[in-house]
Amino acid sequence: MLYSELVEVYDKIGATTKRLEITDILVSFFKRCPPDLIGRAVYLTQGRLYPEFEPLELGVAGRLIMKCISQATATPESEVDRLYKTLGDLGDVAEALLSKGKRQSTLDSFASSAASSKMTIEFVYSSLDAVARSQGEGSQEKKLRLLADLLRDSSPREALYVVRTVSGALRLGVADMTILDALAVACCGSKSAREAIERAYNVTSDLGSVATMLTTEGVDALKRLHPTPGRPIRPMLAERLSTADEILEKMGGRCAIEYKYDGERAQIHFGAGDAFPHLFSRRLENIDHHYPDVSDIVNAAVNSKSYIIEGEIVAIDPSTSELLPFQELMHRRRKYDVEKMALAYPASVRLFDALVMDGEDLTSMPYSERRSRLAKAVTEGPQLRLAEQSIVSDAPSLERFFEDAISNGCEGIIAKSLGPESTYNAGARGWLWIKYKRDYKSEMHDTVDLVVVGALMGTGKRAGYLSSLLLAAYCEPEDAFKTVCKCSTGFTDEDLKSMKARFEKYVIPHRHARVDSKLVPDVWLLPSQVIEVLGAEITLSPIHTCGTDAIRKGSGLAIRFPRFTGNWRNDKGAEDATTEAEIVEMYKKQLKKISD
Ligand code: ATP
Repeated sequence: MLYSELVEVYDKIGATTKRLEITDILVSFFKRCPPDLIGRAVYLTQGRLYPEFEPLELGVAGRLIMKCISQATATPESEVDRLYKTLGDLGDVAEALLSKGKRQSTLDSFASSAASSKMTIEFVYSSLDAVARSQGEGSQEKKLRLLADLLRDSSPREALYVVRTVSGALRLGVADMTILDALAVACCGSKSAREAIERAYNVTSDLGSVATMLTTEGVDALKRLHPTPGRPIRPMLAERLSTADEILEKMGGRCAIEYKYDGERAQIHFGAGDAFPHLFSRRLENIDHHYPDVSDIVNAAVNSKSYIIEGEIVAIDPSTSELLPFQELMHRRRKYDVEKMALAYPASVRLFDALVMDGEDLTSMPYSERRSRLAKAVTEGPQLRLAEQSIVSDAPSLERFFEDAISNGCEGIIAKSLGPESTYNAGARGWLWIKYKRDYKSEMHDTVDLVVVGALMGTGKRAGYLSSLLLAAYCEPEDAFKTVCKCSTGFTDEDLKSMKARFEKYVIPHRHARVDSKLVPDVWLLPSQVIEVLGAEITLSPIHTCGTDAIRKGSGLAIRFPRFTGNWRNDKGAEDATTEAEIVEMYKKQLKKISD
């Protein structure tokens, strides 16, 4: 299948802001796409070559891409550079220079027909794969040669997308859920198979291989999929409530409660052939590199030949064994000096779940069984323990445990259902887990995590800087981002200076299809970066779209006096932001408190 077909799909997606239209475009493409190709087409559409958890990355530096464009179009590098400064996008530069070159070529028609038949999706994918895999000595020259050849074979429009893909700036913004919808309709005729497809995705975190399996083996094969060590599972998440009584009522009068540690979630995998356990973050990236000590600690403490377990990595003060704030642990999230940092900020693990043990899939077992399987396999020590737990059936006991958790440096507690339905629900935020955090006790002293969807230029002292961010909450039912405030305080001078560079790669020419906003910022951004914000209160608002009609017809909700806490939530994806429903709930709770 020709790459130009995919290019046509990208162009159509880029021209619409409607999610249903995007789904239809993908459905029609998936129906035409040969089954053995669909996985690769799905990855390419996501702007990648492999599932997210694969450490191999395509990201080619801008300088090298300029060289490739220069070689492929026989244009001096200085000219490529000049054009880049004018157009601001390397894809556009490649397209412009290739169009110019092709117009001038006397062999134009011959060259382009030969090129277009070569430019299949297979060819583009395997060329990019070779680029990604060339590592080490001489790799830059090899990447240069491979990419320049690929661009020579491309039409101008193909070159635009090839360049955007290699530079990590494809920015089609097609949500995983939209791809799942389209696969269900294209391969099964309706959305009836959607649930099975989504479960397969939640268990494997690999859209490409789900698409391939669906088209080659059918939906029943997907139903037989089990979690496998080495492939991260999309994590189970918690709902939130703000009183002990509400939690107990929701849990049917009895539940387990655990400390909610304020660290970094880790899914730890160990399987046949592994020399040591592998760690995946909440966003399913491999984080082995950051925490070699954690891998050693787990290796020594867990007695099982094959497992997937979950826990929170926390920083501890080695002299007192007390938990340290989250910020201390973040010193560990760096590329260099890993060993030095491991000594300065030793990590410790608090385990809370087992998804696979001795090769057996435990995800359909109730929580109490999973936890006891975990306890059996683990030898606890100062650096690795099970999460502190208690079983409660009355509010005063729950409150006492909560106070305990707070005084021991935790964020709060997580209540967990003990009923027969308390299976591990991969990828779902549900009521089987309920978080109860300290901050909910006061009005809006609770932080929220919001997605940056646009930015505004500063004035006066801040002229020339992007100094205010348009922030949105995530609306799950509509898979959209709805604005809730503009935030311009809490940023340090360094934050302001680096703001442009930080957001450059997310700039898009118009409002993103999934963003619902009445305000028009100076620049629109692809919803991606999540930041933590603290506000004074939530108010009704005529200008923000979050919670429209939920409290009062025609009004949305806004966060008043929002302030950036300094926490760039790089561990969260846009869909992990605080939801619209949570903001509405917080507004209602706040009203309750004020009237109390
Ligand atoms: P938050 O920003 O509040 O951590 P989140 O969206 O990352 O929220 P939630 O599912 O809402 O995740 O809250 C659960 C999070 O709490 C988990 O992702 C995990 O990192 C952390 N955590 C700490 N202790 C526990 C525990 N005992 N059981 C489950 N999760 C825990």
